[in-house]
Amino acid sequence: MIQENISLAKYTTFKIGGPAKFFAETDNESDLLSLLNLAKKNNWKFFILGGGSNILVSDDGFDGLVIKLKTARDKFWAGNSLASLAGYCKENFFSGLEWATGIPGTIGGAIRGNAGAYGGCMGDVIEIVRVLDLECGKIENYSCEKCQFEYRSSIFKRNGKLIILSVVVNLKKEKSGEAIVDTMQNILKKRREKIPQNFSAGSFFQNPFTNDQELISRFERDSGVKVIDGKIPAGWLIDEVGLRGKKIGGVMISENHANFIVNMGTGTAQEVVTLSGIIKQKIRHRFHIQLKEEVVYVGF
Ligand SMILES: Cc1cc2nc3c(=O)[nH]c(=O)nc-3n(C[C@H](O)[C@H](O)[C@H](O)COP(=O)(O)OP(=O)(O)OC[C@H]3O[C@@H](n4cnc5c(N)ncnc54)[C@H](O)[C@@H]3O)c2cc1C
Repeated sequence: MIQENISLAKYTTFKIGGPAKFFAETDNESDLLSLLNLAKKNNWKFFILGGGSNILVSDDGFDGLVIKLKTARDKFWAGNSLASLAGYCKENFFSGLEWATGIPGTIGGAIRGNAGAYGGCMGDVIEIVRVLDLECGKIENYSCEKCQFEYRSSIFKRNGKLIILSVVVNLKKEKSGEAIVDTMQNILKKRREKIPQNFSAGSFFQNPFTNDQELISRFERDSGVKVIDGKIPAGWLIDEVGLRGKKIGGVMISENHANFIVNMGTGTAQEVVTLSGIIKQKIRHRFHIQLKEEVVYVGF
């Protein structure tokens, strides 16, 4: 069923954003195909919405059809939560997805952005992704190699005509679940200490790469953490330019984690964009590094 003028804020973890002109939810491939055909026939823009945990929706909303993928019985359907897949693995003694515990959002969203934490990422566990290619209208199975996973990126991020439908994961069957449970509990504890609990869309910027050896050495001295492949935490840079805690209207840079922009309850998308612009400008000026948003802008 197509609904009209539906506020998107409640479908995002930022709790920010105006309405979708048209909105529909689906938990299966055939309805998804019909909705996409309808959008094509009417010349509507469309947006595939997962858990809304990595997006910033414009205050003006989205002038097209938002298709929300909702939970289905099939555990490997793109619209199911990554947390439910990680939970299923824990209960059935499959190791390899422990790192995913506590990451919000859906399987589809996690594959698109190659979500990861604590040394693991989606690209490590993918065997096959079932994909709808809107360019040719065909459904195909993509091998892990064809998905071209990179740091917080994949072929799906680079090509918006590829819709993720479901997944086959490659995990290890263990004799018992004890080690899996222990690892997950440790990760959850660390996440609770580190991740701000306010409304946000997770890490706002990707960690940038730098070959500035002086900066790398300073970070390593400061944090005691070794830089791998020149990737330096965006949060540390934001801290270095003194922006931790900076507020614009109803949004602020978290005091707990400087790479999180949080909505204090009344925040708007425009305020987030303004704050993000200040961060980018200061970092560019001081370190000659251009930060890139990890968060996807919708309707701008
Ligand atoms: C508190 C918090 C903590 C977080 N911690 C982490 C973390 O540790 N590691 C990490 O990597 N991320 C983290 N994130 C970010 C976010 O949870 C992940 O990026 C997540 O994988 C996004 O999934 P989603 O379903 O919410 O995607 P959405 O936000 O709904 O969408 C993101 C993008 O994916 C596209 N998309 C969604 N589903 C599909 C599909 N089926 N086919 C094609 N495109 C699709 C959307 O169109 C959009 O462009 C965190 C976020 C929050 C709020």
